[in-house]
Amino acid sequence: MDKYKVTHRLLRQSIKSLVNRQLTSNNPIYRFISAFPLGNGGRNPQLYRSFGSLATKVERNPSFSSLNSDDLSYFKGVLGEKNVVQDEDRLETANIDWMHKYKGFSKLLLLPRNTEEVSKILEYCNSRRLAVVPQGGNTGLVGGSVPVFDEVIINVGSMNKIIAFDKVSGILVCEAGCILENLISYLDNQGFVMPLDLGAKGSCQIGGNVSTNAGGLRFVRYGSLHGNVLGLEAVLANGDVLDMLGTLRKDNTGYDLKHLFIGSEGSLGIVTKVSILTPPKLSSVNIAFLACEDYLSCQKLLSEAKRKLGEILSAFEFLDSHAMDLVLNHLEGVRNPLSSAVHNFYLLIETTGSDESYDKEKLEAFLLHSMESGLISDGVLAQDINQASSFWRIREDQKH
Ligand SMILES: Cc1cc2nc3c(=O)[nH]c(=O)nc-3n(C[C@H](O)[C@H](O)[C@H](O)COP(=O)(O)OP(=O)(O)OC[C@H]3O[C@@H](n4cnc5c(N)ncnc54)[C@H](O)[C@@H]3O)c2cc1C
Repeated sequence: MDKYKVTHRLLRQSIKSLVNRQLTSNNPIYRFISAFPLGNGGRNPQLYRSFGSLATKVERNPSFSSLNSDDLSYFKGVLGEKNVVQDEDRLETANIDWMHKYKGFSKLLLLPRNTEEVSKILEYCNSRRLAVVPQGGNTGLVGGSVPVFDEVIINVGSMNKIIAFDKVSGILVCEAGCILENLISYLDNQGFVMPLDLGAKGSCQIGGNVSTNAGGLRFVRYGSLHGNVLGLEAVLANGDVLDMLGTLRKDNTGYDLKHLFIGSEGSLGIVTKVSILTPPKLSSVNIAFLACEDYLSCQKLLSEAKRKLGEILSAFEFLDSHAMDLVLNHLEGVRNPLSSAVHNFYLLIETTGSDESYDKEKLEAFLLHSMESGLISDGVLAQDINQASSFWRIREDQKH
């Protein structure tokens, strides 16, 4: 009960702070939001960030402190020398986002190894008014993971342990720095599936996925992280640890605070642990690569696929001809599985079920009907796992 009282008090404070953020910058929560004025080493007092057609002038808030040698000594005392990174090459990478659109000027990257260390460094930064930005795999596409000025970068990548996995319920509890691909492989070995999969899986962290409410290739089947994440642990700006790491699927004990953190892009605190519901792996997987000549047909095909493939539809992905051209021209070893004719749109449909012949028959009947009704102009079904992987490469390797 006490835990809930504390939690509710902290939440009230956090929400109040977020509202006040519009009015004042003298607020610890404020510094988490990297798109707003944060710290600066004095090198770049004004920056412009454009959001669509809007250009936002961003100035460093002078009320934030700059790093000094006492700060470095404190961090080294808490984290150990090697987890306080000042190496220019490593900082260069951490200061630039995936798209190379945003560049910060941080002089310091901290690598905490556990929740207690995250709590200590946040509490310290708060007391010293040092701006911080949480960073995961730095694969976000909107610049949220890189500093604007000289914020201290905090990356929980060293917190990458699997804490527990329950084979009966399928509930995985892990630290926030686990790389998504490692979780996918771990679960695959256990006979389960991560309900989230995306092209950045080799680098992104589950804490970053939660903080961006990432969707990905499994969304059509398993829905959003708001449905799959059962619990979280997070550290607030003042160092307080919020324990919301429940593993109950049906939890109706009141406010569900974890939802505020899902998609909050680090603005409320640093996510340190996650519990997530994972479905069992099913044995029969079929993949079709299709061509469509107009966008309306793609939409109709999606509606039809939901209706006719129902419970076995596990992915429905789309590429236009420009994306396809890029893939074919720039990725080594990738080829168009369809005839050389150019099509306007391409679709990848995957089904996953438990009955090989029934699932295949269902997909084939769907494809035949779609072909006859003119929704698709060409298509091919993967004959083996290698062909299936090559179809997926076309979609997933668009990241390069
Ligand atoms: C090739 C590619 C494919 C992608 N595909 C998809 C897709 O299919 N669907 C989709 O939704 N997105 C997609 N994305 C974007 C997606 O949001 C990110 O890839 C991923 O979810 C971010 O995780 P990350 O660990 O890299 O976080 P980062 O990029 O490091 O950070 C993202 C945000 O989360 C915050 N953050 C990171 N870790 C934490 C933490 N532990 N606690 C609190 N805040 C934190 C950061 O401050 C930042 O605001 C794709 C990106 C790429 C490059």
